[in-house]
Amino acid sequence: MLKLSNFIGGEFASLEENLYIDNYDPSIGKVYAQIPDSSEHEINLAVEAAQKAFHTWSKTPCSTRAQIMYRIADILESKLDEFAMAESKDQGKTLEFAKNVDIPRSIYNFRYFAGHILHMEEKATVMDNGYLNYVQRSPLGVAGLISPWNLPLYLLTWKIAPCIAAGCTCVAKPSEFTSVTAYMLCDIFKQAGLPEGVVNMVFGKGPKAGQALVSHPKVPLISFTGGTVTGKKLNETCAPLFKKVSLELGGKNANIIFEDCDFEKAVDTSIRAAFSNQGEICLCGSRIFVQKSIYKKFLESFVPKVRQLVVGDPRDPKTKVGALISKQHMEKVLGYIELAKQEGGVIECGGERKQLDGEFSDGYFVEPTVITNIKPSCRVAQEEIFGPVVTVHPFETEEEAIDLANNNQYGLSCSVWSENGKRARRVAESIQVGYVWVNCWMVRDLRVPFGGVKQSGIGREGGEYSMNFFTEQKSICLAN
Ligand code: NAD
Repeated sequence: MLKLSNFIGGEFASLEENLYIDNYDPSIGKVYAQIPDSSEHEINLAVEAAQKAFHTWSKTPCSTRAQIMYRIADILESKLDEFAMAESKDQGKTLEFAKNVDIPRSIYNFRYFAGHILHMEEKATVMDNGYLNYVQRSPLGVAGLISPWNLPLYLLTWKIAPCIAAGCTCVAKPSEFTSVTAYMLCDIFKQAGLPEGVVNMVFGKGPKAGQALVSHPKVPLISFTGGTVTGKKLNETCAPLFKKVSLELGGKNANIIFEDCDFEKAVDTSIRAAFSNQGEICLCGSRIFVQKSIYKKFLESFVPKVRQLVVGDPRDPKTKVGALISKQHMEKVLGYIELAKQEGGVIECGGERKQLDGEFSDGYFVEPTVITNIKPSCRVAQEEIFGPVVTVHPFETEEEAIDLANNNQYGLSCSVWSENGKRARRVAESIQVGYVWVNCWMVRDLRVPFGGVKQSGIGREGGEYSMNFFTEQKSICLAN
């Protein structure tokens, strides 16, 4: 059985207490790996190693840092198939998705931030009296990076890449449900010549290893992606310690479809937005609002296409929906479907656990589910389900669509479908979220800010926004 080790100070390290967590392959519902159940002891060692490395790494020229990061990207690219297979097995996602999204985007995270630091500019100003002002940007120190299970390597590298590009060092704690590709990445760090201690990987549970990292006095900044409830807890720990915090949290994103949309494109993209990665993406469009004049036509096209989505063996190229992350999460998702029935919802398709044969008979599969006839204020239409479940609601006017979209505790992203540019712009500018896609979904330019409003988080990541997070800016004024 695969047994992971922490990666501390450039070496794979043993645990003080010999405690491990069972790690399941969600598509077969069986344990296939063991994850270190690290404690405060391992976190302390990792922070010490990161602190030691910081002295040199923070002074290493940008060009050297970039060179190492390009090497990491190149090696990862040469192992794309191996990593995609591992991600699919560990997370339950389809191999196709891991191959086309997770791993390519992980590679790009390193390439993008390597390029970014080579082209960063700082402004200097000369005052009327000739005094010169300039800004010194300094890496902040040891960062704590905590990531979730839905896009394991992609979201972890989205933190590691800007962190080390900026000259910080880190202790990363990936999700205990999906640690395998993070562990594999440590080997690549060694091969690429990343100095020891720059990235330390400590595996384990959130309330134990995670909490020890967040509360560590020598870790001045925490970048967290995960659920809103966990985010609140983290913030409570960090606030009195005055830590710099970036919180990328949950979402319940609206997908607004006007009668003047490109209909086929809106339907097909809405299916991808709803069910990609089993609906386990914070950006999934799980509240679909359709203008009344095309509501019936939309359902007549959308529902049969959803029924055709193949649920099953994540490694089969025909499969579009793989397994959910855990039995507990599958039960949570099925619980919401039951709740929808109690709330008077009509299950247009799906609604059940998908029972497969043979090897996959104990896998955590749920049929893609479309729910109608439910009030937008109901729990099912308000709370983050994070599974292959969407609710579809009619609306009449643009104002009503905006109100419906904004009437939610979350504010992460939104899609707007209309061929009327003025309308699309009006709506996009009225929606209370961090990211709006007009006539598309999940297209990411890493230069622009990413993050949420309301209960979806605090802070922005991407390009210079990530650099601002991992560095502190000092203004220096020189007399002439
Ligand atoms: P989670 O909050 O349960 O766990 C996320 C990470 O936090 C894990 O590594 C976990 O071990 C750790 N953790 C848990 N308790 C902790 C504690 N007390 N102290 C420190 N660390 C702790 O989230 P999840 O279930 O892994 O991920 C799903 C959630 O993530 C969803 O809500 C989803 O919307 C959100 N998410 C948000 C974004 C975004 O960019 N906004 C992206 C992906 C996922």
